[in-house]
Amino acid sequence: MIENNRLTLEQYQHNFTDIHPPFENKDGAIIEANRCIMCYDAPCTKMCPTHINIPKFIKQITTGNVKGSAHTIFTDNIMGASCSKVCPVEKLCEGSCVYNLLHEEPIQIARLQRYSTEKAMYNNWQLFERKPSLGRKVAVVGAGPAGLACAFYLAKEGVDVTIFEKEAKGGGLMTYGIAAYKVTPEFCEEEVQYIISIGGIDIRYNQELGKDFHLKDLQKNFDAVFLGIGVGVARQLDINGENYEGVEDAISYIYNLRTNDFSEIPVGEKVAVIGLGMTAIDAATQAKRLGAKDVTIVYRRTEKEKPCTDVELDIAKLDGCNLEYLAAPKEIISENGNVKSLVCSRMRLGEADASGRRSPVDTGETFTIDCDMIIKAAGQTPFEELISSSKLENKYGKVSVNSQYKTNWNGVFAGGDCINGGKEVVNAAQDGKLAARSILEYMLN
Ligand code: SF4
Repeated sequence: MIENNRLTLEQYQHNFTDIHPPFENKDGAIIEANRCIMCYDAPCTKMCPTHINIPKFIKQITTGNVKGSAHTIFTDNIMGASCSKVCPVEKLCEGSCVYNLLHEEPIQIARLQRYSTEKAMYNNWQLFERKPSLGRKVAVVGAGPAGLACAFYLAKEGVDVTIFEKEAKGGGLMTYGIAAYKVTPEFCEEEVQYIISIGGIDIRYNQELGKDFHLKDLQKNFDAVFLGIGVGVARQLDINGENYEGVEDAISYIYNLRTNDFSEIPVGEKVAVIGLGMTAIDAATQAKRLGAKDVTIVYRRTEKEKPCTDVELDIAKLDGCNLEYLAAPKEIISENGNVKSLVCSRMRLGEADASGRRSPVDTGETFTIDCDMIIKAAGQTPFEELISSSKLENKYGKVSVNSQYKTNWNGVFAGGDCINGGKEVVNAAQDGKLAARSILEYMLN
């Protein structure tokens, strides 16, 4: 049965507590920072999509220069505080740390980054001075990581920025789409406030592109426009029973979880989650932490081809989620309109596809998973209708841009998930930063 309020307040608090605890004190951070051998041509910096000078910020921690360390991080990535909590560091900076070659634990780069950036945020250190106004206005659509990064780096150079955000809060995916035990809504709000405290950034909430305003109005009223609208629509399974009571999409489910008390979120006793990306893991682990007795993740390939990282998968396993590999949803069975079970096709692996991973092939055999709730996390599709109706050139809904992030509209730039279909927060932050440079060049030349 699907019901809310399955746990006590203490249990909810315990289940949703910070999964990556910070260093308890300064000494812990300094000891860890001193392990870093400050590599020349550091592989960790190369692997960071925003190319933060990692050995430099770690060195600054060892000398007690935490302000300088935060400045180094934010110079390249103004979302550095968020990224220290949500980046898949095991496949980025920490995954490339030279200590891995020695079969030793890599430097805890994310934890050190968190140490410096949180200190800066919570002490409201103003590390950058906004240049005098250039007399130029830019509209940014979307207050997610790409939009915030673009707005910050433009405001820093003296541009007046107006952000139009469709939700009631900023942060985008950080605020509405990531597991609550990784980053809290309060943290996201504080981060947005810290970023805009540089000045010159006005955020207008509850303003949706295509409803409350149109692209052509922005193009007319501003010197340039940046689109950081993300992706948002959950991919349909296109199987029978998708509309039964108890079938949810992971994006909406996580959104509800992020905007309501945990005790208000209904969860099934037996939940099946479809997909094995990061969103699927977030949905499965949170269903378990809300009190579901049995959570089964259904994935059509094997563990080897999984889109999530090993660390993410370990979280799901440690939370007690079951994994059903080589299984594809075929039909949802109901009882009185409510989900009763999920029929799956048994797959086998065939030839490699364009992604280089072996494709799942239907064996013709089926099996059934008993469940009263199904969460769909089989990817997201872009805002195809909105993008096409705005006459933006696009590929299957992904906005097309050139190497300077320019769209086919004069003075309109785009970056983040709306151009790549959905990557990491750190990729969006990098797009926003680079697009800000292109916009400045466009406006001032
Ligand atoms: Fe330090 Fe590791 Fe980066 Fe080298 S690769 S600079 S040891 S964090």
